Amino acid sequence: MMRDFSDSHRWLSINTATVRKQWALDRIIDECARRGIRAISPWRDQVAAVGLDRVARQLKETGIELSGYCRGGFFPAADAAGLKAALDDNRRAIDEARTLNAPCLVLVVGSLPGALNGSPVHRDIGRVRQEVRDGIAATMEYARQMAMPLAIEPLHPMQAAERACINTLEQALDLCDELDPARSGGLGVAVDLYHVWWDPKLQQQIARAGADRLLAFHVCDWLVPTRDLLNDRGMMGDGVIEIRKARGWVEAAGFAGHSEVEIFSEHWWSQPGERVLDLCIERHRQVV
Ligand code: ZN
Repeated sequence: MMRDFSDSHRWLSINTATVRKQWALDRIIDECARRGIRAISPWRDQVAAVGLDRVARQLKETGIELSGYCRGGFFPAADAAGLKAALDDNRRAIDEARTLNAPCLVLVVGSLPGALNGSPVHRDIGRVRQEVRDGIAATMEYARQMAMPLAIEPLHPMQAAERACINTLEQALDLCDELDPARSGGLGVAVDLYHVWWDPKLQQQIARAGADRLLAFHVCDWLVPTRDLLNDRGMMGDGVIEIRKARGWVEAAGFAGHSEVEIFSEHWWSQPGERVLDLCIERHRQVV
C-alpha cells in the first residue's frame, strides 16, 4: 500500500538548491518551518555561508530534519595529490553531515578531471570509473566509523563527462554489490527521477535495490522541450515523468522516507521563494 500524500506534506523534503537564488539557508529553514515542511536537504556551500553550528542549532530549534546532505563525491583527479584532496574533502563532508544529523551523504561521483571547467585533462572514462570505485571504497571506511551512509546518485548520461561517470541505477547498484556485498546499510543509492526516469530497467533496479539500499528519493519533472542541460528542471506535474508510479515502485521496495523536491531552474529561481515553496507543497500532494 502506497502512502497517501494527498492531504499531508509530512513526507515532503525541500532540497535547498530549489530556492538557493532567492534566500540564504537560514531564511529557507524559517520559510520551511512556517509551512510545516519537516525536512530539507542542504548543500555544503549554503551551510558554510550561514555557519555549520548555526545551521545545526536552527534545525534543532525548528525540529526540521535532513533527508540527505549534498554532497560528497568528485573523486577523480589528474594526479595523486588531487585524488588525496578529494578524499580529504569527502571526510569533511561526512563530518558536516554528522553534525547536521543527516541520514546519508549524497555522492555525485565526478568524471573526467577538468571537464567541468571545459578543459578535460584526459578522456579515459574507464580510468575515472576506477578512481570513483577506489574513492568510494576509501571513503566508506571513514563513513562507517562515523555511521554515515553514502548514497550514490546516478546522473543522467548527459552529465557523464562533467559530473558523474555513474549513469544508471544498475551501474550504481553493481558498485554497491561489489563494495558492500553484505548490504550493511552503509552504501546505497539516491534515486533522482530527473536522472533515471527514462531507464527501461528502472522498476527492476529499484526492486533490486531494496529498502537497505534506497537511501533517498528526489523528484522534479522533465520538461519538453528541455532548454538547458543543468538548470531547466520542471516543477512536479509540468513535465513527462510518471512520478507517482515511480514512488509506488520505491515504496513497494520498502522505501518509507521523504520525497525530496530538487529543482534546478532559472525559471523557478526567478520566482518569489514563497510561491515556489507553496507550489512544491501543492504539487507534492497532487502528483507525487
Ligand atoms: Zn538529486
